[in-house]
Amino acid sequence: MPAPAPNDLDTWLITGGAGFIGSALVRMLLRAGRVRVVNVDKLTYAGNLESLPGAASHPLYAFEQVDVCDAAAVRACFARHRPAAVVHLAAESHVDRSIDAPMAFIHTNVVGTCTMLEESLRYWKEVPAGLRERFRFLHVSTDEVFGSLGPGGQFSEATPYAPNSPYAASKAASDHLVRAWHHTFGLPTLTSNCSNNYGPYQFPEKLIPLTIQNALAGRALPVYGRGENVRDWLFVDDHARALETIVRRGVPGESYAVGGASERRNIDVVRAICRTLDALHPAGRPHESLITFVADRPGHDARYAIDASKIRRELGWAPSETFDSGLVATVQWYIANQRWAERVQSGAYRGERLGLRRHVDAMSTDDISPSTT
Ligand code: NAD
Repeated sequence: MPAPAPNDLDTWLITGGAGFIGSALVRMLLRAGRVRVVNVDKLTYAGNLESLPGAASHPLYAFEQVDVCDAAAVRACFARHRPAAVVHLAAESHVDRSIDAPMAFIHTNVVGTCTMLEESLRYWKEVPAGLRERFRFLHVSTDEVFGSLGPGGQFSEATPYAPNSPYAASKAASDHLVRAWHHTFGLPTLTSNCSNNYGPYQFPEKLIPLTIQNALAGRALPVYGRGENVRDWLFVDDHARALETIVRRGVPGESYAVGGASERRNIDVVRAICRTLDALHPAGRPHESLITFVADRPGHDARYAIDASKIRRELGWAPSETFDSGLVATVQWYIANQRWAERVQSGAYRGERLGLRRHVDAMSTDDISPSTT
């Protein structure tokens, strides 16, 4: 059967498509060629179009530099592109930044999500019946909304919300808004709550890319507290596949917990990166000698773990990378893409320690401009 002409394809509007997970989703969708992709992104410090090589000339791709809090601009995007799905990833995403300057998180994550819901609802009510039936709004959220686990147990869709950081609280608020827009207005929404992601194109402020970048430069490798905190890691391309699966097969009104069943203590993650670098980049060997324990993050959640059996059972999704194979691929990618890492870091962020609220006077909590935080 001939491939459908591009005009026959549905359009998916991806917010935050220039960020870490959003760009993985956009790259995957463009490679597959089953939908048109509109990337709606404000391009904050965390968004970079260099994470989408070749996209600009792709016939199925369009870019809109738009703030998700700007209702008029979002409305114009809906009118121009008439999407069959919205995958909402745009957010302020770094816990340490949310400790130093929480207002930007409330603005983008809460007001921005509410704006996307309102504009989706306005659009959805007016489109022809066929498109209205197909339309889906997927909110991409985090397992951090569930708080912290002790040594046992896992988060699932039934876990009560108990967010601890300003970031987690802002995502929890947006999850509740999404639920309400389904319950009250009937908007066909879906929510995914995913564990920590890692992989190529992650801005080097989060544990794995920051450790790789520091180790490559021979700098100290800061580990919070004693490195005992446990996270459940998922390779970013597996998350991108989960998101496409949820849009296509998820049941409106439902939420899906997504995770890779790869629990690791932070110190073990850092040591695994060091071992991988010893093999792939022997110059700085042994990289473990760079490990430095630093003051813990205030309110640091002890452990996250995900029970992903619902999405596995009901939607047939499963991760394809193990933590070890994904980590090797990630370290290899950063070694081969130092130019990308240098260019995205040449902005305001220079690898300094965030999240201790040292700069609280300089970074006014009333500052709601995400691009400056
Ligand atoms: P990221 O920080 O790498 O990217 C965020 C993107 O959103 C950037 O491209 C940025 O320019 C854009 N953006 C920020 N504010 C915006 C605004 N006001 N308007 C339009 N665009 C804006 O984030 P990420 O790690 O790719 O996370 C994406 C989503 O997935 C977030 O909603 C996050 O909460 C969620 N999530 C992340 C993880 C993780 O481990 N990284 C895990 C689970 C869920």
